[in-house]
Amino acid sequence: MAKIALLPGDGIGVEITKQAALVLETVSAKYGLDLELNEGLFGGAAYDQTGTAFPPETIELVQTSDAVLLGAIGGPKWDSLPADERLEIVGLLRLRKMAGAYANLRPAVMYPSMVDSSTLKPDVVSGIDIMVVRELTGGLYFGEPRLREPHPTGARAVDTLEYTTLEIERIVDLAFQLARGRRGKVTSVDKANVLESSRLWREVACAVAQKYPDVEFESMLVDNCAMQLVRKPKQFDVLVTENMFGDILSDEAAMLTGSIGMLPSASIGGDVDIYEPIHGSAPDIAGKNMANPIGTILSAAMMLRYTFRLDEPARAIERAVERVLEAGYRTADITSPGSRTVGTDEMGELICREVDA
Ligand code: NAD
Repeated sequence: MAKIALLPGDGIGVEITKQAALVLETVSAKYGLDLELNEGLFGGAAYDQTGTAFPPETIELVQTSDAVLLGAIGGPKWDSLPADERLEIVGLLRLRKMAGAYANLRPAVMYPSMVDSSTLKPDVVSGIDIMVVRELTGGLYFGEPRLREPHPTGARAVDTLEYTTLEIERIVDLAFQLARGRRGKVTSVDKANVLESSRLWREVACAVAQKYPDVEFESMLVDNCAMQLVRKPKQFDVLVTENMFGDILSDEAAMLTGSIGMLPSASIGGDVDIYEPIHGSAPDIAGKNMANPIGTILSAAMMLRYTFRLDEPARAIERAVERVLEAGYRTADITSPGSRTVGTDEMGELICREVDA
């Protein structure tokens, strides 16, 4: 039995996870899967009902599940909560810390029917299929010391960029395993010409590469990589990098392909895997049946593939999304001339129908 904690959260989170759950039910019936979805309160909705963004029942639900499918949390209503009650801190950051996931996977895939949505020229972006693998628990965002202190010029602030061999090895190794199931190329990104931590990163990445002679490997400096992503993005297959470089490059790679509403993500490698669209709760369109559920539906497909090793059902969902887009259906955020605008519910229904076809 595959146990999934469904945490809709707030705003459009509620609408998009509903559609993702319907798609999971459809694929489950079609392939005879044993998926159990249990819904939990999380974020602002949880705060309103229980006084905390991450109540004990939801903590228990997460701890007894194999994976979490998360919508999004937050909204103006909860923006002025005191620091010790803030949704991001009590909710999201605690959930991520509890999960212990060290690898963030962000695919950037260009669907043929969406080529015109990109800000770059069609011949540059058509056929893009990149997987950015970002280290999630180390580096500059967690290094100590981290401080701010008085200084004759005003203040002095310090962050620390630190990596160990083990931290680098496990994420680079994961990148190679992913590449084996894809087009067989890994690009490791660092700043080895300047940073000591990057020199260690490069050494370890090269050593891991020796174990995978069947996978093409290169190291690239981060500034060059940022440029190559917009110049010739199709040269990349799996791109692996440390936390802050990954934060920036994964946004850049994702936006090559179009709307924020289309993009899934996975955080894996810890006690429980977390899958979520990359966007927030979009209060401006919440409750209007306008949100694009595709990022969440594709996150559910990633969950089937990476946590439950169910590649064929995952592909079925991805193919269904492709076919619905090819047929010209679009939510309001991705409309183009000649397309047919549908709401969140209808987009979910269309994808379910294609999964079932
Ligand atoms: P956002 O991602 O919610 O929205 C940015 C813009 O993109 C908005 O115009 C929105 O309408 C649009 N958009 C986002 N997702 C869409 C979708 N699926 N379909 C169509 N359009 C979509 O970012 P924001 O406005 O900066 O933040 C809104 C709230 O979400 C804030 O409270 C923020 O803290 C929270 N947030 C939560 C998460 C999370 O839960 N992981 C992440 C980011 C922001």
